[in-house]
Amino acid sequence: MDTKFTPEDLAFRDEVRAFLDENLTDEIRSAAVGGDIQPETIVKWQKILFDKGWIAPNWPEAAGGTGWSVTQNYIFENECAMAGAPAVVPFGLKMVGPVIYTFGSDEQKQRFLPDILQSNVWWCQGYSEPGAGSDLAALQTKAELDGDHYVVNGQKIWTTYAQHADWIFCLVRTDSSGKKQEGISFLLIDMKTPGIEVRKIDSIDNQHSLNEVFFDNVRVPVANRIGEENKGWTYAKYLLTHERTAIAGVAQSKKAIQKLRDIASKEISGGEPLINDAMFQAKLADIEIELMALEYTELRVISSVAAGGAPGPESSILKIKGTEIQQAIAELSVEACGHYAHMLNEENPIGNDYAWAVSAKYLYGRASTIYGGSNEVQKNIIAKMVLGL
Ligand SMILES: Cc1cc2nc3c(=O)[nH]c(=O)nc-3n(C[C@H](O)[C@H](O)[C@H](O)COP(=O)(O)OP(=O)(O)OC[C@H]3O[C@@H](n4cnc5c(N)ncnc54)[C@H](O)[C@@H]3O)c2cc1C
Repeated sequence: MDTKFTPEDLAFRDEVRAFLDENLTDEIRSAAVGGDIQPETIVKWQKILFDKGWIAPNWPEAAGGTGWSVTQNYIFENECAMAGAPAVVPFGLKMVGPVIYTFGSDEQKQRFLPDILQSNVWWCQGYSEPGAGSDLAALQTKAELDGDHYVVNGQKIWTTYAQHADWIFCLVRTDSSGKKQEGISFLLIDMKTPGIEVRKIDSIDNQHSLNEVFFDNVRVPVANRIGEENKGWTYAKYLLTHERTAIAGVAQSKKAIQKLRDIASKEISGGEPLINDAMFQAKLADIEIELMALEYTELRVISSVAAGGAPGPESSILKIKGTEIQQAIAELSVEACGHYAHMLNEENPIGNDYAWAVSAKYLYGRASTIYGGSNEVQKNIIAKMVLGL
């Protein structure tokens, strides 16, 4: 494995840094905290990236991607995270976009991809249901054919940012007669269609990101189905590998450690900055070592992809370790802020003004080992696919 950057890679890194210096304002940096998000500001940032031609590094060039090498992708992700750029909203760019350019018809590509690249349309993900999370194929939301439309009835849950969404991509049941994976279809549904209701779910971080979405006789054109009827499970699984790789968040964790160091330099413990405390340093070092090991695992995967390989079940390893590290950093950040971290009050923060955000991030971050497929389920995947158990 060769993980050294070439002179061209270093020149590219400088170009990215110069772009970020010029375009990344404090307003844009503050667009995402914990589970909360400022949709207009995020969209503004995404449009800046689109204008530069850098909005979809992971897409094939023909579909609107950058044509970068995997190393350039890695550099870009790292530089954005370290500069404090908010992550792009994944539902269009990292989830349904790749499904559409891989499995969609030409009409669907022309209709949906430009709006995803330009961030004109906000998407959300309608996979989970009250009885179908880890066992996703048990989903019950039904779509019945009626002429050139499907009539959709049922309920989705945990639908992140459905309150902002223009469109939802949904897994629906179109056949109940055989194996449950073989009766699922993948539909694109306009959220303005009559019969859709979004209900807020209050979450522990005191922010609004989660929702339930109800479908009551919602008419969806058959033309909005991706690929073949009853083959949606194939497209759904393809999307999940994209989702899981994105969740590992090594670059974001590096930035979070930088922030934690900053907080620990401001917080006083025993008359000295906390960062000088030997116990604190030991805890921080433990996390940094884990993160460094994870980064090398990620680089190994990148290096093998560059050599023509495929990431495979390593994405599950990245997801498990990545989310465990995210939670460890969030926990130590709360510890660093002491009692002030328990004041989840953005308007009237008590103590240092960063403490409420630390707390919101910690609380929202409890979910990272659950969403995108829980870590227990990822361990099952590793047991089967890597260890052959
Ligand atoms: C913050 C957040 C955002 C989300 N956003 C979205 C979204 O936008 N769209 C969407 O569709 N979904 C979303 N989800 C849903 C998410 O994908 C599910 O919560 C997840 O797949 C787990 O399903 P579940 O909640 O039904 O838990 P369950 O499947 O009921 O699992 C409960 C527990 O049992 C364990 N378990 C289950 N099966 C096994 C097994 N076979 N072996 C070992 N342990 C097992 C799990 O690990 C877990 O600890 C989100 C969830 C969260 C928390």
